[in-house]
Amino acid sequence: MESFPRGDSRSSHQLQKGVKMSEYIEQVLEDVRRKNVGQTEFIQAVEEVLTTLAPVIDLHPEYQENAILERLVEPERIIMFSVPWIDDKGIIRVNRGYRVQFNSAIGPYKGGLRFDPSVNLSVLKFLGFEQIFKNSLTTLPLGGGKGGSDFNPKQCPHTPGRRCSNHEVMRFCQSFMTELQRHVGQNTDVPAGDINVGAREIGYLFGQYKRIMNNWSGVLTGKAVSFGGSLIRPEATGFGCVYFAENMLARVKQDFQGKRCVVSGSGNVASYAAKKLMSLGAKVLTLSDRSGAIYAEDGLTPEAWLAINRLKEVERGELSDIAATLQGVKFFPKANVWQIADKVDCAFPCSRQNELDAPDAEYLLKHGCKLVAEGANMPSTPSAVDIFVKSGILYAPGKAANAGGVATSGLEMSQNSERMYWTAETVDSKLREIMAAIHDNAYAAAEQYGHKGNYVMGANIAGFIKVADAMVAQGV
Ligand code: NDP
Repeated sequence: MESFPRGDSRSSHQLQKGVKMSEYIEQVLEDVRRKNVGQTEFIQAVEEVLTTLAPVIDLHPEYQENAILERLVEPERIIMFSVPWIDDKGIIRVNRGYRVQFNSAIGPYKGGLRFDPSVNLSVLKFLGFEQIFKNSLTTLPLGGGKGGSDFNPKQCPHTPGRRCSNHEVMRFCQSFMTELQRHVGQNTDVPAGDINVGAREIGYLFGQYKRIMNNWSGVLTGKAVSFGGSLIRPEATGFGCVYFAENMLARVKQDFQGKRCVVSGSGNVASYAAKKLMSLGAKVLTLSDRSGAIYAEDGLTPEAWLAINRLKEVERGELSDIAATLQGVKFFPKANVWQIADKVDCAFPCSRQNELDAPDAEYLLKHGCKLVAEGANMPSTPSAVDIFVKSGILYAPGKAANAGGVATSGLEMSQNSERMYWTAETVDSKLREIMAAIHDNAYAAAEQYGHKGNYVMGANIAGFIKVADAMVAQGV
């Protein structure tokens, strides 16, 4: 594959040394570390953003005068609640529910719900914090929030190795919404899906909200199309990530034809990123889940993609269940998906936070990778990000590359308010336009502040300025 022009070759951490790091930023970071001991994911996310803002803070003293950073790193509201529910054996179970309403400067709180045993306040605060900048980048009026529970729909509490039944998931969702309903609303806070929260869960949550409130409104996005969902919303994050990458490639006069792509995950984001890549002529070499990774030397076929999509969306199974039935596909149990293919052009981390570490980044670069676009939130560790940025490859951070999901949620909200449905073509073309705008804004911001080609700097700066200006205008 042809070589890409090099972007800014300094890493985010090196930039801290290269750019005069405002004392103000250092002081806020110190406070964040002191006040949030043990919240490693949250501290990581705040460090990643604040260490890139020095050029903006230096130019805009009004941000310090208005204590914008101090206010931005503190969620406006955190709601924590118990979620009691009854399993199929009649036993009462209790999980923990959360909603982090992080920042509403530019619109109602907006961000997904995650149901996973790994969910805790640190994870949700990191996700909510990221969401502020991501939502700002979408060009739509959306504030930042996130929520979820440590409930695990993939392991029912009474029978090891069995998933929760639909009825168990429904009872959990109803109990979750019985508390959440008093904190959300179409003009207040509009949750959506995330890991383990898809169309089924959104349906149950929406049904309970409507029952309690006696009110049909677009309080959740990701709904089925039959009751107010948007066409293309299921595809939007994966498609949007690929559209973003397409824009990066177009800037260097390339496209996806024949590119060898490694993708992690096989859920919502990974699945539709893979589908779009295949439709653009790329070869999708890998997908993964908790059971392991699949590798297709010549790229997944459309038939294999369909079988995996059905497995994940309908049967809720694991890749290990069907890998042997897929032609031209090898299965590696519990494997590291990044270190399987020996020739890679592009990588799409689409599974979870901190899934790609420094040795993986080094492996990818050594094996030819020239583009990384993050479908997941914060999937690359700080040292992996450093390696990517330093290498000068095209590297798109999640908050820019995966913003297509929330952007299309914004389009779902518009359709609900209008009481209208838009066609798939209309939504897809708006999604394309939004991803192009996010790309161009991030690229322009990086260039304007002296870091041409550095999408990490560009996304953080462009996302930040809009929110910061709104906060200044609205007063303390
Ligand atoms: P899904 O639950 O649909 O898929 C998650 C995928 O990651 C599954 O394949 C899952 O495997 C795998 N996975 C999760 N945890 C682990 C683990 N510990 N080890 C190995 N594999 C794991 O979630 P989404 O696709 O919706 O979300 C994926 C990422 O994208 C998350 O970071 C999310 O925050 C982000 N995102 C999602 C958006 C959306 O619209 N859905 C929008 C923007 C970002 P298994 O199937 O075995 O559980």
